Amino acid sequence: MMLEQLLQETARQHRHLCPRQVLGVRMGLMAGKTFQASFPQSDKRYVIICETDGCFTDGLSMVTNCTVGHRTLRIEDYGKIAATVIDTETERALRFSPGKSIRKLAQEYAPPGSTKWQGYLLGYQQMSEEELFVVQPVKLMTSIRSIVSMPGRKAMCVQCGEEIMNDRHIMNNGYSYCKPCFSGGYYEPIAIAGEALAPMQLSM
Ligand SMILES: [Zn+2]
Ligand SMILES: [Zn+2]
Repeated sequence: MMLEQLLQETARQHRHLCPRQVLGVRMGLMAGKTFQASFPQSDKRYVIICETDGCFTDGLSMVTNCTVGHRTLRIEDYGKIAATVIDTETERALRFSPGKSIRKLAQEYAPPGSTKWQGYLLGYQQMSEEELFVVQPVKLMTSIRSIVSMPGRKAMCVQCGEEIMNDRHIMNNGYSYCKPCFSGGYYEPIAIAGEALAPMQLSM
């Protein structure tokens, strides 16, 4: 698909077209060329670790077909328009991020009288990939094998009794734990009026 069609498609999904979607689409296209990958992929060869959620991520996901559902898109939320694309066959990993002056450069592509936002929207469509993005080879701190892990592998947390998939459990003294029980998670149960909190099955 050409850039214009891709942008129409992402705009349709989003009910709007915005500069960040354009960046996501263009980053996906550049990654496809750099890796000589046939995006949108129909298998799970490429995995993307994206450093934000939102419009940018949707554009990137649409072009590459790396999705949360396929387990080929992971969010490491640093609040940045940046992403690392990993070839799981060769373990080559490249991080794509915007060039430092793309905001300024984009304005040069906009007709006089445009707002800055319009400048970004138009500029990001017309700038060259080299103007838009910096490509940095990187080494993953967690291997791609353990990121992808073992789909289908299951364990039971001895503390909360919930099932843990994809080899995400933690073994301690021969017992398996989920991450929140072992070292804290993003939530803590609160009592519902009139009900006691579920007792812990085993104290650590
Ligand atoms: Zn948007
Ligand atoms: Zn647990």
